Formats: sequence, C-alpha cells, structure tokens
Amino acid sequence: MFLKNRMKEYTGNCSVQIERLKQALETADAVLIGAGAGLSTSAGLTYSGERFERYFAEFHQKYGITDMYSGGFYPYSTLEEYWAWWSRHIFYNRYVDAPLPAYQELLALVKDKDYFVLTTNVDHQFQRAGFDKKKLFYTQGDYGLWQCSKACHNKTYDNEDAVRQMIDQQQDMEIPSDLIPRCPVCGSLMTMNLRCDNTFVQDEGWYAAQSRYSDFVRRHKHGTVLYLELGVGNNTPVIIKYPFWKYTLENPNAIYACVNFGQAYAPREIAERSVCLDADIGRILSALNRKAVS
Ligand SMILES: [Zn+2]
Repeated sequence: MFLKNRMKEYTGNCSVQIERLKQALETADAVLIGAGAGLSTSAGLTYSGERFERYFAEFHQKYGITDMYSGGFYPYSTLEEYWAWWSRHIFYNRYVDAPLPAYQELLALVKDKDYFVLTTNVDHQFQRAGFDKKKLFYTQGDYGLWQCSKACHNKTYDNEDAVRQMIDQQQDMEIPSDLIPRCPVCGSLMTMNLRCDNTFVQDEGWYAAQSRYSDFVRRHKHGTVLYLELGVGNNTPVIIKYPFWKYTLENPNAIYACVNFGQAYAPREIAERSVCLDADIGRILSALNRKAVS
C-alpha cells in the first residue's frame, strides 16, 4: 500500500509544523501515542557516551564494550558476571527517573484528552512520569519483569528487590552466586521479559493491555483522531508506524504526526494530513506546552 520511494519528507518551516501539531492536539477527540526508543533517548536515557561510562566503565576496560545495547549480547564467561551487567542495565534504565522531562512534557499535553499509548519501549518511563497504567500497552516487555528462560509457565515476576540486591552486593563485576535468579517452577534460569524470540511470555497483564488497546482503536475508527508517533525507528515498523499510516488513511478526519530526529516522513497518500518534525522530541513537546499556556 505504501511505497518507500513515494514517501514525502518535510524539511519545511519547523514552527509552522509545530503550530499545526498544536492545533491537531487541541482539536482531536482522541490521541493515540506510538512511542519508540527515540523518546527515551530524548529523555536522556542514552546508551553510550558519558552515561555508559558512569555505570559500566569496568566493562569497557575489560571487554571493550562501548554501549549498553551491545553489552547485553556479550558472551560473559560466568552467570555472576552476566547478572552484574544486567542488574546495572535494568536498574539504571528502569528504576531511575529519566534525566530530562520529555515524558512529563508529553503527559502535560494529553492528560485531559482521551488518549492511549502503544510503545515498544521496555523502560517503564511512562508510568514513572505518571501516565495512567490502564492507558499503556508495552508490546515488547518490561525490564522490570523476569520470566522463566524456558517459558515453562505463563507468568512474569517483578524483579525490583532482586535487582537492588544484585546492585548492592556485586563486587569486581560479579554478583554473589546465590542471587542468580531461577524459575520457581522448573529451576531453569530466569531471563528478562523481553520479546527477543518465541519464548517471550505474554502474561495476563499483557493480554489485558492488548485488549484495552484494541478497544481504543475500535472506538476511534472515526472522528478527529491524532496518531502521534514519537521516536519510532525502522526496526519494527509493523507495530506502530504501519498501523498508524493505515488508520490515518482509512479515516479522512485523522491526522498523523511523526516526530523523530533524522527520520520524520509520511507516505504521500496521507501527506496532506501529516505533520512531520525532524527534531529533538523533548524540544518539540516543550515548545507545544509553552504554546499551550500562552
Ligand atoms: Zn521454568
């Protein structure tokens, strides 16, 4: 339906696009937010550079790892070291507030609207910022949950206490052996509840959120709906980007907005009803809030 070579890229006047997005936010009956990694990057949860060095300097020195993403795939020689890495990764991306207020700026814009959030982010920052849990669908999992690595049963487990213990008790890049998490049912190792392969556990909470998302989409097939896509890359476009284009195409009163540093574009079929902003998301959200109160 949408061909890449027929995309329309907007490089026009940024303030005009911000004004169009502001109007779309104000007049929309409903706002469906689709958020990807770019939103968390804009909130300061960066995976490399100074922030990586602050928390993972020893891993850089020992293995030459230079960012949090690739370090998650490193073949550590012991489970104690593997969990020293992962407990830091989980803690500093899931159990701390983001350094910059992009999520709070977003909430300020939609809190009085009929909204819902679909996200591939697994860092829980929507809830930390105060978004209503019932309006969130984390499709790809949550750093704050573990599951059996063999997926022997369909349940996830909150890991906060265990992760804090690992952080407190690790020494020389190793956690104590007795903190290695094991499945309470089959004794296999536990793993992050992330959609990496077909062992991803979709528990009751996941299905309930999926159902609420489907209901929201169904209730808003018509009317002035804003599909607000923030920081969604091209790794998994079938989750947010392609459905948002399709919903916009099917509803002549819908607006599609894409805010993404370096990758803001829309198909020509919906170009006239699209707002594309190639800019830092936090800066755009802040500008929208300033406009909203002026
Ligand atoms: Zn198990």
